[in-house]
Amino acid sequence: AAVPARSVLDGLDPQQRAAAEAPGGPLLIVAGPGTGKTRTLTRRIAHLVAERGESAEGFLAITFTRRAADELSERLDDLLGERARDLTVATFHRLGLLILREQHERAGLSADFGIADTARRLEIAAGVAGSEKEGRRLLERRDTGDAAERDAAYEQRLRELDMVDFTDLLALPVRLLGADADLAAHYRRRWPRISVDEYQDVDDRQYTLLRLLTAPGGDLTAIGDPDQAIYGFRGADVGFFLRFTADFPGAATVRLGRNYRSNSAIVDAAVQAIAPASLLPGRELRAVGDFSDPPRIGVHTAADEKAEASFVARSIDRLLGGTSWHSLDSGRVTGDGDGGLSFSDFCVLYRTDAQSEAVMRALDTAGVPYQKRSHDRLLSRPGVRMVADELSRHATGTPVERVRSAVALLCERHSGDDELCAHLRTAGELVRPLAAECGDDPSELLSALAMGAEVDALDPRADRVALLTLHAAKGLEFPVVFLVGCDDGLLPFRFPGEGRGPEGSGEAEERRLFFVGITRAQQRLYLSRARRRTRRGTAADTAPSPFLKAVDTALTMPVDEESAVRKRPRDRQMRLL
Ligand code: ATP
Ligand code: MG
Repeated sequence: AAVPARSVLDGLDPQQRAAAEAPGGPLLIVAGPGTGKTRTLTRRIAHLVAERGESAEGFLAITFTRRAADELSERLDDLLGERARDLTVATFHRLGLLILREQHERAGLSADFGIADTARRLEIAAGVAGSEKEGRRLLERRDTGDAAERDAAYEQRLRELDMVDFTDLLALPVRLLGADADLAAHYRRRWPRISVDEYQDVDDRQYTLLRLLTAPGGDLTAIGDPDQAIYGFRGADVGFFLRFTADFPGAATVRLGRNYRSNSAIVDAAVQAIAPASLLPGRELRAVGDFSDPPRIGVHTAADEKAEASFVARSIDRLLGGTSWHSLDSGRVTGDGDGGLSFSDFCVLYRTDAQSEAVMRALDTAGVPYQKRSHDRLLSRPGVRMVADELSRHATGTPVERVRSAVALLCERHSGDDELCAHLRTAGELVRPLAAECGDDPSELLSALAMGAEVDALDPRADRVALLTLHAAKGLEFPVVFLVGCDDGLLPFRFPGEGRGPEGSGEAEERRLFFVGITRAQQRLYLSRARRRTRRGTAADTAPSPFLKAVDTALTMPVDEESAVRKRPRDRQMRLL
């Protein structure tokens, strides 16, 4: 019998396949978490290139974070091999940078203009506005789109310095393409096929740029889930998603309803948690596979944040020991690799960065390696700029060797200053992966340092527990997830001392964050809280997060450290003693 030829679409279910094979033109893929939106997007691109003979150069795939862009690139590399090189996969900021580098003259910039990092732009804004406080205000105005008169001086100053800031990376391309129809047409011809993952989080500028890049009836695929819209606080507008079919006439819509990521307890809990604020009431979302007795969601109440963190650390330790440790755990938990769990299969999620302190301390004590997304830009770390600037002088060798010699030379020049040399060496480790990516182009490296590093400093290949804010976790998945801080005041977030407001749009966005957090988990989910928590130096009693109430107790079970400790296998206990 004839064996059907293998296709890149083979790993898709019928709904996903329909989305991947949909004809060109505006297309909206609207579906819940874990339904394979991102997977469908990569297969659609691979199908068009590998099986329909389209030129890879015409594809532009946009995502929001560097890590998401990296993952997309990797998946496309796997599917397309060499041909994946000609695709453009970028974050919005990278796309803006790419256009600006090509059109720098029109923007009044030199070919190797710089990017002002947070500290630098504040310095400039403060200089223009008269004080740091006013400078901060100016930047806030600027970042939320309200282009005021006073900001012209700030922009002018930036241009004099041959620099742009992050806002410019989008605002300038929008201005250039908006003012010149031929230029816009040039880019439309270059990228006839555009797709945007996580479209529910686009803001006004990003939307305008997409409009400029898309011809009427053009091929724009928007992928997303309005219930995962979590960036409203910084100007994103889920309305763009909800209006897509009106905005892009003739748009087709595909819905996906099967969740491949998580077990049924996690999926059901997520659906219950979002229900009171869902923007897609009645949507379908169910777990794939047989889950007649899914492991329940562990709910832990600790005395304070220290005890909560120690619960996390000990639980990780126990789960790595390979035993299930509460009675309703059915089945082993396994990682992506050889069947056993490793550190990188765990993730700890929290609402505010401050919560990571206690977690890190507990993980340090337990000897559990972790990596945390850092919020400061890499360039503001001591030594990094020196290494980056020095790099351009080392013309030969691989990027790794060049970084090494730059660090060695700088250390020699500053011998005696041990602290600086230690910083320089650390900086060399931080810079190396980016240098490898950017090849021989020092200005490219400096831009990558200024942008990429803030967005994402996580190495997906490192075997470490990931510590992430809920905002940083979107699109990602982990076999085991701990969502800490399920207290009222953190979820939903309020500043300490601030009273509860009515359930408004802010609270709905907080609920969506909770939803995003829950749906990162594949096999095990733990929700924890502290009865008493210190925030900004003041300890106060807390109430449980109201979001917990939405989850049926049949899906959860209380877990505490004591029972867990007793069940720990003997050999592991020995090792720990
Ligand atoms: P999110 O909203 O969180 O971004 P998503 O809809 O983009 O989720 P993916 O990350 O694409 O979901 O897929 C979730 C997981 O399910 C991935 O591990 C993916 O490989 C797997 N998956 C998706 N579709 C299928 C399928 N048809 N068969 C097997 N596994 C699948
Ligand atoms: Mg996704």
